[in-house]
Amino acid sequence: MSTRAYACQSATSPVAPFSLDRRALRPKDVQMDILFCGVCHSDLHQGRNEWHNTIYPCVPGHEIVGRVTQVGPKVTKHKVGDLAAVGCMVDSCRSCPNCAEGLEQYCSNMATFTYNGQDRHGGGLTFGGYSDSIVVDEDFVLRVPAGLDPAGAAPLLCAGITTYSPLRHWKVGPGQKVGVVGLGGLGHMGVKFAHAFGAHVVLFTTSPGKVADGKRLGADEVVISKNADEMKAHAGSFDFILDCVSADHDINAYLSLLKRDGTLTLVGAPENPMPVAAFALLMGRRSFAGSGIGGIAETQEMLDFCAKHQITCDIEMIRMDQVNEAWARLLKQDVKYRFVIDMASLKKG
Ligand code: NAP
Ligand code: ZN
Ligand code: ZN
Repeated sequence: MSTRAYACQSATSPVAPFSLDRRALRPKDVQMDILFCGVCHSDLHQGRNEWHNTIYPCVPGHEIVGRVTQVGPKVTKHKVGDLAAVGCMVDSCRSCPNCAEGLEQYCSNMATFTYNGQDRHGGGLTFGGYSDSIVVDEDFVLRVPAGLDPAGAAPLLCAGITTYSPLRHWKVGPGQKVGVVGLGGLGHMGVKFAHAFGAHVVLFTTSPGKVADGKRLGADEVVISKNADEMKAHAGSFDFILDCVSADHDINAYLSLLKRDGTLTLVGAPENPMPVAAFALLMGRRSFAGSGIGGIAETQEMLDFCAKHQITCDIEMIRMDQVNEAWARLLKQDVKYRFVIDMASLKKG
């Protein structure tokens, strides 16, 4: 099926109109009309080849909410007319130990990512949600619970699950002091979830203009990370810190804020390696960890949790043709707190 999209043709070209063909439905496939797609900083890293593995043309977008328009004959989990969602993965091997545990994002044979991936059955490159329709195996399509605003729910598919999963894995909850570094798309969901899980939440931001929003979103305290004295006041006091920063920054400044046995988990994925000072880890038996998105079952759990607790993302809606401007603003830390593309603008355009 011919599909309108926006793609990068190189690391330096703007995101521009492109057309592609979605595959004919396989027996377990679901076809969706895309209504909304969030703009993740990963779209920019990948589109600009900052991770040095981009295959062009690249159609980004992995925070997708849409309406089911067609289903294959063996589909049982979704039906035409349903509001449905697709996140960062569209397939995996389904037989390795990680897939067996519902941790498809860590598939030993590499999950098939929604864009810049290789279709494991038909071959060819996967294209993401900066487009007006998509075809995905039903096992990688999520249900959008009733009562969730579809546009505000779209970024849950990446920013939401990427912060929910580590906060759950490291059992963040009442009685703990938890830091969230960087108030962007991921960070603002990290603050909301850590608050909802009952922790004492401290937001670290480089942007003085975000202090009031940080508190409104659920932070008990906000620290301007450029202020050395404010940082020092929190030395050795955190159980857990979630680092959501997209660019180079000093990780040792945060490791030193952990308590004995505390953990700093990286979800931000900057282009460059970061130097870690041995003594920042040795002193206090601290851990430095990482976490990637979340599995399909946990993503559904997170969506259901959000519906129950009325949690969605704070979004700024844009037209598809404003996406280059949105990327430029991401680089200036100027987003409150996720751009979401209204895909009706692509259909009309
Ligand atoms: P974003 O909306 O652009 O937010 C990033 C935030 O980082 C900014 O708002 C800013 O917060 C802070 N920041 C930016 N530049 C900085 C600098 N030079 N020094 C210190 N702080 C800086 O990005 P996002 O979409 O949330 O994504 C964040 C990162 O997570 C990206 O690298 C993305 O690729 C990665 N990611 C990883 C996964 C995963 O599975 N692990 C999933 C999705 C995204 P303040 O203004 O508050 O300082
Ligand atoms: Zn993402
Ligand atoms: Zn697997």
